[in-house]
This record gives sequence, C-alpha cells and structure tokens, in this order.
Amino acid sequence: MTSKDVVLLRGVIPEDDAEPDVVEVILVNNDLAAEGGGASFSCTTALARIVMSNGNNGNPNLLAHEIGHVLGGLHPGDSQEEGFWVPEVGTVLDPSRSSHVPNPERNPASSRRQVRCAALTSTGEECCISA
Ligand SMILES: [Zn+2]
Repeated sequence: MTSKDVVLLRGVIPEDDAEPDVVEVILVNNDLAAEGGGASFSCTTALARIVMSNGNNGNPNLLAHEIGHVLGGLHPGDSQEEGFWVPEVGTVLDPSRSSHVPNPERNPASSRRQVRCAALTSTGEECCISA
C-alpha cells in the first residue's frame, strides 16, 4: 500500500457523512510501512481522521500517537507551525516509524496543556502527518 493509497482511504467516509465530534479511525490490513504504521489527516479540525494499520502487533501506542497528531501535536524536533505544538523527546509523539515498534508511552502534562481539540472547531484546514 502506498502513501497515495492512504490519502485516498481517508476519503472512504465522505466529509458530509462524517459524524460530528468523532475522529474517524480507518483500520487497514496492511503494515503501512511507508507511513510508519499510520497517518493523521485534517488534524485539529472537526474533519480529523486517522488511517492506521490494524496489525499493530508490537506497537500498542500507535493510536495514542495518531490521536496526539489530531490534537495538534507534531513530532519532537519538528519546526513549530501555527496552530500546532511540538512535544518533548521521549513522549508518545516520538515516532517509532513502524506499526511493530512501540512509540514511548510517556504523555507529560506539558503536552496535555498544549492540546488543541478542534474536533472542537471546524476550520477546514488540512494537514497530513505520517507516523
Ligand atoms: Zn507521527
């Protein structure tokens, strides 16, 4: 499965049919190796959705990692972008780059205080962050 396929999968549920206040999670029977196991789209918006491997044997923190992106978190060391926040190294948003390698479990208060939940507001902004 390619990154292009993953982008197409996010559209499997038309935006008009998306449930309000729900983050759509699309599980696929593929390791999504090119995406590091998962990808998040339309982060910080009410249109947020996640496409991730259903075979995350070895990475029980992958969904938490992707939800972190939906809540506006980037990866540690990423450049700051308006509307997003950069977490500390060694936290759940540190990418493992695999559905079989666990992301760190740590989710410190410094991250939780920065969460932006626009499932709370619809801005229509798009983002795409691979695991
Ligand atoms: Zn990531």
